[in-house]
This record gives sequence, structure tokens and C-alpha cells, in this order.
Amino acid sequence: MSSDDYLRRTVITRLDVSPSDESLLRETVSEWKRGCQIAVDKSWDQYTSKTTVQQIAYDDIREQTELGSQHAILASHQAAENIKTCLSRREDGKSVSKPTYTSPTVTYDPRTLTLFREKEQVTLTTIESRIQADLVLPADENGYQYKYLDGEDWELTESTLHYRDGEWYLHIGVRKLAPETQQAEETTENGTVLGVDLGVNEIAVTSTARFFSASELNHKRREFDRVHFGLQACGTRNAHRTLETVTGRETEYVKHVLHSVSKELVAEALRYDCAGIVFEELAGIRERLPNADWHSKWAFDVLLTYVTYKAEAAGLFVETIPPNNTSKRCPECGFVADDNRPERDAFECQQCGNKNHADYNAAKNVADAYLRREQQSSRRRGVSQYALKSGTVTPNGVLLPTLMGLRQRTWTSLTHNKANSVV
Ligand SMILES: [Zn+2]
Repeated sequence: MSSDDYLRRTVITRLDVSPSDESLLRETVSEWKRGCQIAVDKSWDQYTSKTTVQQIAYDDIREQTELGSQHAILASHQAAENIKTCLSRREDGKSVSKPTYTSPTVTYDPRTLTLFREKEQVTLTTIESRIQADLVLPADENGYQYKYLDGEDWELTESTLHYRDGEWYLHIGVRKLAPETQQAEETTENGTVLGVDLGVNEIAVTSTARFFSASELNHKRREFDRVHFGLQACGTRNAHRTLETVTGRETEYVKHVLHSVSKELVAEALRYDCAGIVFEELAGIRERLPNADWHSKWAFDVLLTYVTYKAEAAGLFVETIPPNNTSKRCPECGFVADDNRPERDAFECQQCGNKNHADYNAAKNVADAYLRREQQSSRRRGVSQYALKSGTVTPNGVLLPTLMGLRQRTWTSLTHNKANSVV
């Protein structure tokens, strides 16, 4: 992302494309990939800048592909960006290989893409004529997309066309000049939060994809329950005394597990340089988690208490947010539907195709919901993004540069890496 004076956002929307235009887009994708490849092949060993790649490769791209002049320029810039990434990775001592272009994407700029805001339409340059396509935006007016597409506040920048699971998606880049005050806020409001989802099978899952399994805890509980019932059945005084001991031992065991989970959650927040940790409110958790028994409810209360005092000791805040479609909402495009949860552990967005573990997804939604509330709050904590396994995400779905580790495969479509081997 740039550090210039603009606020930048990405608006994701599906496109309604007619069958004949669809085949034109496919051919354009294939020519685009060839164009980028030509540019990389020609300038891989003599890269100095974006401009030189354009000078070296432009004529060849025009001669050997069907791409028009502007797309030939954009393809050479794409190649330049990927080579630059490779070179900086090499400088960091990592091994890199020349990028190959396999992803079904094409880059567009305002010369090759025109947005008709009122009509919710775009026209796109292809290898032949321009085609027209409708944006498939959320039916209710709450889609986050409208904020950026209505009016002229947000100016169109570079966009990317993606083909995914049989559908065309447009990741529309928009920007707005940051007012002086807003700039100051942007620079101070770059704090990060860790989102945590609590559950029955996984005690906790973080927005950084740490899973704390409850299987051992659940197993132990069943064991305790068996002893418990056996002793209750005896009903003697002696058995009663033993029962109290067992209950005490069970409680101690659960507390021990919760202590270590809470310690790890705080450590995870510190590892990702977070300012705070966000959970869903526990009120109503029984309704939301029908499989949770009294143990779980009690355990979540205890866990939250442990995390709170450990976090505060480490200088972190702990906040809770009211539950609101956490398990059914897509953190990538904001689409909410029951169908987004085909199975208990699986999340698959019916609008944008985003696939993920359901609890990991929920953890991201918890963080996201907090950040959206925070943006509207007058007493801000100065946080604007949440920690991910591979970097941080702002509520508007823009991936900032990777902090550590490898990018999650799911997020590659949101990044500027269009060449598979670059990642
Ligand atoms: Zn989605």
C-alpha cells in the first residue's frame, strides 16, 4: 500500500456478464497472462524500474499478444511490480524464482474501465470491443460497497478482474484525498486488535488462525461425568465426600486449561503487536451455542476473566461486542446468509466465494464488528485493523503488507500479487 496522501479502499463485487462477453473476458485473461509473462521474461535479468520494463517489453507485448496499448503498459507495470517484490525478497536472503502467471486476473485502470455509478455498471476493455457488465451489489442498502460507489467522494483507481468458481468478480480500487486531520488520524489510528471466537469444539479461535481445541477438555469432562454419576448412584456419605473431591479436581483441571489458553491468547496478541483483544458478549451464548452445557458457559466466563486480567497486566484492553451474524457473515465482502455455512466447520460465501474454517471466519468478524463500531465512536482507542495470520486487514477489506509468515491462500485474491510464484 502506498504511504501517500490518499485513503485507499477495495470494493469487491460480482459481475453479471453475458455469455458472449464472457468468452471475450476469458481471452483477455489469457492474453493478459501472456503479456505479463513476456514482460517478466524480457526484463527479469535487467530490471531497474517500472519505466524500463515498459520500454523493454511494450513492443513485444503488442506484437505477440492481442492486448491493446493501455493493457500492454499495465501488463509491463504488473511484471515490474512482481520483479521488484522478488528482488526485495532476494535481498532478505530468501530464494526466489521468476514469476509465472497462472491466476485468472486482469488489471484495469480508469482508461480501461469506466464506472457508471448511478447505473451500477462498468465497461471493460477487452482484446476486441469494450463490454458492459452490471455490478451485482447486495440487495439491501447496507452493503459496504455503496459507501464507496455512491457519489464522487471516492475516485476510481486501479481495479482487478478475477475469475473464481465460475464467476467474474471485480475488485474496484478507490481512493480519497485524506484531509489533514484525517491524515493525522490515519497515522495514529493504525493500532491492531485480535479477534477471538469462542466455541464448543474449539475453545477459542483467533483472527490470526490459532485454534485452541476443546477436545481434551471435553474428553476429560466426560470422564469426570462418569465418575460423578457413579458416585451419585452410591449415595453413601463416603461417596458424597469423594464426589466433592472429584468436583474440586474437575474444576481445578478446567481452570488449569483455561489459564494456559488465556496466557496463549495474550501472548498471541502481543506477538502481533495488538492494542487489544475482542470477544463476543457471553450473554445469550447458550442460544448461540446450543451444544454448550453449563460447563462451557462457566468456562467462557472464567476464560474471559483470566484473559482480562492477564491482558490488562500486559497493557492491552479487552472488549466485547454484541453478537451479530458472526457465524454467517463474510468478512471479505460483508454478505450475510444462512447458506454461507454449508457445514458446521465450513464457511463458504455465496456471494464472493471466500472459503474458510467457520470459526476462523467468525474470529475475523468479531474483530471487524468491533472496528466498525470503533470507527463510529467518539471515544476512539486508535485501532483501525485486526491481526490476521499473514498480515492485517482493515474493515474495508484491504490487505496491508504482510507482517509475518506466509499469506493465507484465501487472501491472495485481495493482494497485489497476481503472479502465483511471487507469494
Ligand atoms: Zn463474501
